Amino acid sequence: RHAGGGDDDGRGRRRVLVFPLPFQGHVTPMLQLADALRSRGGFAVTVFLAPVPSSSSLLHRPAGYRFVTVGAGVAGAAAALIPSGTGGDFAGALMRLDALLRAPFEDCLRQELAADEDAAAGPVGGSNLRGMQEVAERLGVATLALRTRGACCLVAYMAFPELCGKGILPPPTSARRDQHQMDMQLDELPPLRLRDMMFSATTTHATMATCLERLLDSSRCSSGVILNTFNDLENSDLQKIANGLNVPVYAVGPLHKISIGEHNSLLTQDLSCLEWLDKQEAESVIYVSFGSLASMDPEEILETAWGLVDSQMPFLWVIRPNMVQGSLQVGLPDGFEEATRGSGMVVSWAPQQDVLKHQAVGGFWTHNGWNSTLESICDGVPMICRPQFADQMINARYVEEVWKIGFELEGKLERGMIERALRKLMCSEGGNEMRQRAKDLKKKATTCVEKGGSSKTAIDMLVNRIMSF
Ligand code: UDP
Repeated sequence: RHAGGGDDDGRGRRRVLVFPLPFQGHVTPMLQLADALRSRGGFAVTVFLAPVPSSSSLLHRPAGYRFVTVGAGVAGAAAALIPSGTGGDFAGALMRLDALLRAPFEDCLRQELAADEDAAAGPVGGSNLRGMQEVAERLGVATLALRTRGACCLVAYMAFPELCGKGILPPPTSARRDQHQMDMQLDELPPLRLRDMMFSATTTHATMATCLERLLDSSRCSSGVILNTFNDLENSDLQKIANGLNVPVYAVGPLHKISIGEHNSLLTQDLSCLEWLDKQEAESVIYVSFGSLASMDPEEILETAWGLVDSQMPFLWVIRPNMVQGSLQVGLPDGFEEATRGSGMVVSWAPQQDVLKHQAVGGFWTHNGWNSTLESICDGVPMICRPQFADQMINARYVEEVWKIGFELEGKLERGMIERALRKLMCSEGGNEMRQRAKDLKKKATTCVEKGGSSKTAIDMLVNRIMSF
């Protein structure tokens, strides 16, 4: 749709419509992208949000955006669909949410287009909601698919049907599945192993296959795929995507370094940890956080607590209130606080990007959500990887085997192994080499968003693409 008269070049009146999944790891990059488009292309932005619990508590609604709640009438049903923690059937829930939101989204989109008839430029959709894309297509609105995960993840998803065709997926049910088989390297996807493709413990293979097919369809049917990554980090996977999906690919990340907008945290950040970090020595602190969805059982919390204390290293640990399985309480062990002797801090939600760029932070123990992984890379912080589900195993594998800026902590969590892992990352020669490689990647991440850099150029190309709709 073309903008009507008004501004000199019509740019100021174009409107981009975005629809992120209502979770921190999706809302954050989508709003960062919206911000980049707004500042580079002068677009106005409408943000559609589904009313599942996290979006209803979206704390900070940046000025200058129009927020539209989609499916207020189905809020209860939508909220009930989304499982919390790792155990849930996310893929199934997403598809049900997608179906539930279709009709309400169509109403909202019609209203939006009627209100802004000459200003719509086409939505940038999260590629997890294929149904929303189908609605947009029907109403004549061009779409772009933002993948909020890495290129490595999309390449793995693209290989899923081939692995099924060869009988490699699904592996035999757990009774017959042995460790050796799960550790098998996949020739089609080096350096991934079969177990890195086990995206969920509870989703059936058929549901996963359908979900991934719809997700790939949303990329194939779009006018372009946007990825929060950069060329120097994932060049060969970006090439595979461009060749395999046959649509333009825009690697515009790291978006948090491109976006100049205000923060868009869904939870209240505890800023006092930044003051605490100011008092710590350079690169001495290990930052421990498992993102917005991953969980731990009470025993894992206990072992982590004592592993951190036994390492005698300063630490900053994020424990969300709902992070402990089966409990609303954090459940730190008795005597823990005294044992840390002031050298550790626990918060319920941190300003993570500021933490990772703080000079006191020397390592990150992470679940390897894509945003956390990318944020760590961009600030040159090496990682201990503890992936749980979805794309996290893939990201962890790349951290260890491709970029060599960290290593995976495997097996049942136990305080002795935690202490050893922390020492390896923070005090060993191997850990220093990982830190050095992470710092080299940081330089590349910095260059790509500068004038003439690959991501900055990709944003400009994307702006031109949207203007051409
Ligand atoms: N995050 C944060 N404070 C915290 C923990 C996480 O701001 O205490 C942010 C983090 O910076 C990242 C996002 O939450 O941008 C988590 O996204 P990710 O993809 O890493 O994991 P997910 O939450 O989707 O599992």
